[in-house]
Amino acid sequence: MYDLIIIGAGPAGITAAVYAARKKMNFLVITRDIGGQAAWSGDVENYTGYQFVTGPELVSKFEEHMRKYRIDIKEGEAVVDLEKSGEIVKVKTNKSFYDSKAVIIASGKVSRDLGVPQEAHFKNRGLTYCATCDGPLFAGKDVAVIGGGNSALDAALQLIKIANKVYVINNTPRLGGDPVMKEKVEASPVVKIYNDSKVVAINGDKMVTGIRISKYGNEEDISVQGIFVEIGLIPNSSFAKIVERNQAQEIKINCRNETSVPGIFAAGDVTDVPEKQIIIAAGEGAKAALAAFKYISQQR
Ligand SMILES: Cc1cc2nc3c(=O)[nH]c(=O)nc-3n(C[C@H](O)[C@H](O)[C@H](O)COP(=O)(O)OP(=O)(O)OC[C@H]3O[C@@H](n4cnc5c(N)ncnc54)[C@H](O)[C@@H]3O)c2cc1C
Repeated sequence: MYDLIIIGAGPAGITAAVYAARKKMNFLVITRDIGGQAAWSGDVENYTGYQFVTGPELVSKFEEHMRKYRIDIKEGEAVVDLEKSGEIVKVKTNKSFYDSKAVIIASGKVSRDLGVPQEAHFKNRGLTYCATCDGPLFAGKDVAVIGGGNSALDAALQLIKIANKVYVINNTPRLGGDPVMKEKVEASPVVKIYNDSKVVAINGDKMVTGIRISKYGNEEDISVQGIFVEIGLIPNSSFAKIVERNQAQEIKINCRNETSVPGIFAAGDVTDVPEKQIIIAAGEGAKAALAAFKYISQQR
């Protein structure tokens, strides 16, 4: 029986773990990976104290800090269900079962699928959802970034440095996202932007050879070897059916990170806190750990 189980080790979960360790709580971290989305980010220019750091560098600093404490971590394990039995929260994973007095859900978000035929077939055959992880595989090649928000801009900025040509396919009249990033993308001679356009098909046999886009009903084939899907994210909250979620499937929390179920807290991108940023997720993780500590102290 643990005092606390933290689900996820992105910025929210890692910060919660650091705070829980400093409160000397008996806790466990269960996570699919270390770093979460922060590890996919190319250039991070808005984490206070670092004028510039790459996502993977920041994550390795986070991990180093967390592992400074002797922490029990189940890495590569995914939570599939949560139940409350009396005062105990029962956590079911793809490998085991765990009991805890409190839980912090910090499971973040995952990339949304493009929703075109053959998408599953082309995954990892030229179609990817992570420019930081897979960008270097497309050095000197022509690639398409699908999307027009911050994730797409971040991917395009990374690919400009690697690829021969970067097509940005955006289904709205103009690019959204951070104005500074947008200016950099628009100014690049390597980039060609297609606004008001959507991908209707992926071309290729074994590997991606192109995309078919549609603009006002007119279709056009563009030859690319790589496709980076950056059309938003969905919360990893499907295992948390016992807590209240909003229409976007984000977990509803109050300012103390409490969910609708006593003893279950949530932090970071998986929650309905409006802004999704590393520094916000980290701060929310700290708050959630302190709230969980207070909750457990009152249970004793
Ligand atoms: C391409 C990209 C670029 C970005 N750039 C920036 C930037 O420059 N600056 C900025 O501030 N923010 C940036 N962000 C946003 C930032 O990365 C997120 O806001 C932040 O990572 C959220 O942290 P989190 O801990 O809440 O969730 P996540 O980072 O999503 O971490 C979730 C964790 O939960 C784990 N997990 C998920 N489901 C389960 C499960 N069922 N069981 C166990 N573990 C699970 C995951 O493995 C992961 O470890 C960017 C995001 C993307 C995608």
